[in-house]
Amino acid sequence: MGKNYSLFIDNEPTQAAAQDWFPAVNPFTRKEWAAVPQASVAQVADAIAAARHAYDTVWSKTAGHVRARLLNRLAELLETSAERMGVLETTDNGKVIRETQSQMHFASRAYRFYAGCADKIFGDTIPLDQRDMFDFTRREPVGVAVLITPWNSPMALLCTKLAPALAAGNCVVIKPSEHASVTTLEFAELVRDAGFPPGVVNVVTGDYRTGQALLTSGRVDRVGFTGSPTVGRQIAADAGQALVPVTLELGGKSPNMIFDDADLDRAVVGALAGIFGATGQTCIAGSRLLVQRSIHDQVVSRLVERAARIKLGNPLEKETEMGTAANEPQFDRILQAIAGARAEGTTLATGGKAATGPGLGRGFFIEPTIFTGVDNKMTIAQEEVFGPVLSVIPFETEDDAVAIGNDSKYGLAAGVWTNDISRALRVSRAIHVGTV
Ligand code: NAD
Repeated sequence: MGKNYSLFIDNEPTQAAAQDWFPAVNPFTRKEWAAVPQASVAQVADAIAAARHAYDTVWSKTAGHVRARLLNRLAELLETSAERMGVLETTDNGKVIRETQSQMHFASRAYRFYAGCADKIFGDTIPLDQRDMFDFTRREPVGVAVLITPWNSPMALLCTKLAPALAAGNCVVIKPSEHASVTTLEFAELVRDAGFPPGVVNVVTGDYRTGQALLTSGRVDRVGFTGSPTVGRQIAADAGQALVPVTLELGGKSPNMIFDDADLDRAVVGALAGIFGATGQTCIAGSRLLVQRSIHDQVVSRLVERAARIKLGNPLEKETEMGTAANEPQFDRILQAIAGARAEGTTLATGGKAATGPGLGRGFFIEPTIFTGVDNKMTIAQEEVFGPVLSVIPFETEDDAVAIGNDSKYGLAAGVWTNDISRALRVSRAIHVGTV
């Protein structure tokens, strides 16, 4: 086994007890390649206390331009470490190296962006009737924020929480997923090297028990969570009990709609990238492809032909187009969802099983899978798979497409492929999702 990682509390590595370790497993080799600590409840309390102390004594008194300078240094360090950090993340979660390395640059830009905001946090002045009174608001940090992230893009999903939290003057305790903790622990060292005072950023690793200990500590001021709806519901309940505001970024079953006037070459590439990019393990995956009936068969045959040519392989190799499922439980869940879709009476157009063959070793590979004959009421169209599984659903009219698109408990994202700009704008308004 490779490196033994430590928790990161007060800018110091903190060891777990001898029995409290779990392995980081490379999903391509299925080998244990590092050891990650399972934080104890006492260590979680220590991390929160460190953040609280740093907030009270240093960070809440640190000027915006100083926070900005540190964030810019952090951005610089992440940028220069992007290649190494990409290799670590790919080894940890099987996402192809092109994607992980480019996400490091994306994250670096986010730290830079929020560095620019750190000294421009304004309040309002409020007009009053009384001429001898003055009323104003000031925007202040909340204190200690807990940031909980999933395994699919640990660095990219962390930066959109951490960068604004630090820019605004908060201290944080981060808990990455037990299935991909390594880059967050490595990143903590960059935070220290950038010069952030001890306790401003702390990382505790572990499974759901670590998250629960953070949520039920009664000592945090704000929670940011990205993950599944099931866990999100639990976190909202725990945060409710603690009367702590929480932001939830959850899953999706996003409709990607192709109208018959679209540029089909581009729409087909977009549909494939939307579901097979990141092995479908992305919250905004276009997992429901709604295709206008008149072009349905043509689109399906193009998709099937292209899907069969997607190059699976070692995620660390630049030419690999699709990597593995990120971990064994996820691999099993995807295969179960495929079996479920077949049992519901869909038609398997391509894929449908674990992928094996030369160059794939013992990796958790799944064939790019496309189902046709899907009814939007089926489980495969209603439940998130979080894997390379596309459901193609025909529609007749624009109203029909919008109705099917909106018939979902999710509301994360959607795509519209048309050459009619008025239709694009109309549909993007009618569809009830956050991002189109
Ligand atoms: P998950 O919900 O299983 O776990 C997310 C995190 O919560 C992990 O760190 C986990 O250890 C922790 N956790 C689990 N139980 C907890 C508890 N009771 N209290 C506190 N923390 C707890 O999600 P996952 O399997 O890691 O990630 C996949 C999910 O994330 C998918 O549903 C995907 O759509 C979603 N996601 C959403 C976005 C977005 O921005 N909306 C982005 C990426 C992933």
